[in-house]
Amino acid sequence: MVDLAEAKPRAKKIVQALRKQYPDTRTALNFSNPLELLVATILSAQCTDVRVNLVTSKLFKKYKTAEDFAKARISTLEREVQSTGFFRNKAKNIKACCRALVEKYHGEVPRDLDALVELPGVGRKTANVVLGAAFGIAVGVVVDTHVGRISRRLGLTGEKDAVKVERDLMQLIPRREWVDFSHRMIHHGREVCMARRPKCDECCLERWCPRIGVAS
Ligand code: SF4
Repeated sequence: MVDLAEAKPRAKKIVQALRKQYPDTRTALNFSNPLELLVATILSAQCTDVRVNLVTSKLFKKYKTAEDFAKARISTLEREVQSTGFFRNKAKNIKACCRALVEKYHGEVPRDLDALVELPGVGRKTANVVLGAAFGIAVGVVVDTHVGRISRRLGLTGEKDAVKVERDLMQLIPRREWVDFSHRMIHHGREVCMARRPKCDECCLERWCPRIGVAS
């Protein structure tokens, strides 16, 4: 359990420092509409954004609507997304997800968390990414492995479970910051506060970080 009264003023400083350090928060995934972002986000599990962008640059030229993906031959789609890893699962989820979009939402991506998480292959994290980046709707804080790890090190949460981490962060971070905060923390986790050997000496958050669990 974190002491919210203690953590809140620090969280405010952390939000400010991250904003200064990473003023541009656009997602690194390329997309031109919500459907493309949804597909790219499904593909991004355990894969770099650079690789996903390489794959989707071809994929989105061929598949333009949810119906296109829903009708795709699964073996073809698997081959097309193969280099992103876990390709069988990802191809299956993209096809099933797009079939559900066609059947229930006229091929459109719903702007609603509960509807999104019902779609095959779409968890709360993916739903939050899509709502935040494609629609500008903040219903939660995206908690991936980077956000979870850094939040624990910063003492903003003591939780391991992503849903509980998100619950703590939603109490500490102002709602208007949720979307950008996630993007910035993910960026910070890739560049500075890595799982192994975080670069604390170069970190913009060092002043406010108790470095919980970090070997000195
Ligand atoms: S000071 Fe170190 S542990 Fe804390 S956020 Fe920065 S890199 Fe991570």
